Amino acid sequence: MTDDLKQKIQTKCREMGIPLFGIADVCRWEDPLLNRDMPEAFYPRSIWPETQSVIVIGLPVHLPALETSPSVWYREEYRTINSLLDQYTYRLAEFLNGQGYPSVSVPRDGYGHVSVLVDKPVSFFSHRHAAYLAGLGNFGVNNMLLTPQYGPRVRFGSILTAAPLPGDQVMEGQLCTRCMQCVEQCPVQALSEDDYPDGLTEKATCAGYSQTLEKHYLAPCGVCIKVCPVGEDRAHYHREDTGIYRNRAGAEGCHRAWEHVRRYGAR
Ligand code: SF4
Ligand code: SF4
Repeated sequence: MTDDLKQKIQTKCREMGIPLFGIADVCRWEDPLLNRDMPEAFYPRSIWPETQSVIVIGLPVHLPALETSPSVWYREEYRTINSLLDQYTYRLAEFLNGQGYPSVSVPRDGYGHVSVLVDKPVSFFSHRHAAYLAGLGNFGVNNMLLTPQYGPRVRFGSILTAAPLPGDQVMEGQLCTRCMQCVEQCPVQALSEDDYPDGLTEKATCAGYSQTLEKHYLAPCGVCIKVCPVGEDRAHYHREDTGIYRNRAGAEGCHRAWEHVRRYGAR
C-alpha cells in the first residue's frame, strides 16, 4: 500500500521534472548519532506531531549561472529555484492530501530577510538534514549536502506527511574530497578545515557577508558551492578544472564573461 504510494510520488516527481527525490522515516531524526548538533525542537515531529515521513526533493543550480557569482544572474537563478521548490512541494503535499494522507510543505527559505540571519542564523527546519536522512547525499567540509549528481549545487525542499512511507537508505561513505577549496576561497573565512559537524560554518559571519551583498542586490554568495569539485555536473559543463576560479591564465574567456555579467543589474 505505502510502496504503491511511494511509486505514485516518484512518478509524479518525474512528470514534474524533479531530478532528486528521497524519503526519510521520521524516526531517523531521533537517532542522536545522526543529529547531535540538532535540538529536538527542530525535528519534524516537534514541528508537526502527525508527521510519519519526510519527502525531500532537490533541484540543481546550473553551474554557468553560479560561476558568475556574486551576480544578478546567480541571484535570479537562486530565487527561481526557491520558487519552484515551494511550488513543487506544495503541489506534492496537495497530491498526498488528495490521496487521503494529511501533508504539508515546508517553505524553502524560512526567514523574512537575510538581515534576520545575522542574529538568528538558522531556520525552523533544516532541508539539508532532511536530504541527508532521505539518502540524497552527505555533508562536506563546506557544511553543505554534497550529492553525486550536482555536488553541493542543489537546493532542497521538504514535505511533511502523515503517510508511513518506506524510507531510502542513508548514503554511506564520503563524497567530500577534503580539497579545502571551499575553506580557502570563502571571502570571509567562515569555514574551518574540520569535517562536519565538528567544523561548523560561522553562520553569523556568512550571513553578515550575505547582508552586505544584499545591499547591492548580489546575495547570495555561493562561492563554497561554486568551487567544490564534487558532482557529475562539472563534467557535463566541462568544468572539471576548478583551478580556473583562481587562475586567470588559461581561462581568460571565462573571466571576461563573468566580469561582464557582474557589471550589470546590481549596484
Ligand atoms: S556562502 Fe560564501 S561567505 Fe558563506 S561560507 Fe560559503 S563562501 Fe563563505
Ligand atoms: S570544496 Fe573540497 S573540501 Fe569543500 S566540500 Fe567540496 S570537496 Fe569538500
